[in-house]
Amino acid sequence: SINSECPLMRDDLGRASWSLLHTMAAYYPTKPKQEEKQSMNQFIDSFSKVFPCPECRDDFQEEIIKSPPDLSNRLGLSTWMCNQHNIVNKKLGKPEFNCKQVLERWRDGPKDGSCD
Ligand code: FAD
Repeated sequence: SINSECPLMRDDLGRASWSLLHTMAAYYPTKPKQEEKQSMNQFIDSFSKVFPCPECRDDFQEEIIKSPPDLSNRLGLSTWMCNQHNIVNKKLGKPEFNCKQVLERWRDGPKDGSCD
């Protein structure tokens, strides 16, 4: 853990950024308008260019070229983001996340209602 008065280190920035990215995907519309698709696409593209970790940014940009964001709807985008996070997990030797549970993790909460 870090001193709360120090600038964010890579792991804290990473955790905070994934929280934002997965939550944005989890609240993306089920039926996005063309303009909403375009805004999300631009956000992800800009994010991949300005994220302040050069190694993370370069790899993320390459992955986006290989597999562009699925902007079709909430589940598509959430699954795409989950797959992107799994690519980084694999690279760092972290366990793979089951993407069938991505909306439970980032939107609905567990079925036992513990987050309600
Ligand atoms: P994190 O990986 O930050 O995950 C946070 C929480 O998200 C987990 O506790 C879990 O509940 C949930 N989660 C885990 N996997 C998934 C998934 N697939 N889908 C949905 N939810 C999930 N760090 C580096 O050292 N090198 C890099 O090259 C690098 N690239 C990055 C690229 C991007 C775009 C981002 C946003 C971060 C990157 N990071 C990188 C940071 C790294 O991914 C982690 O955020 C950091 O190592 C802290 O890991 P953590 O174990 O706390 O959990």
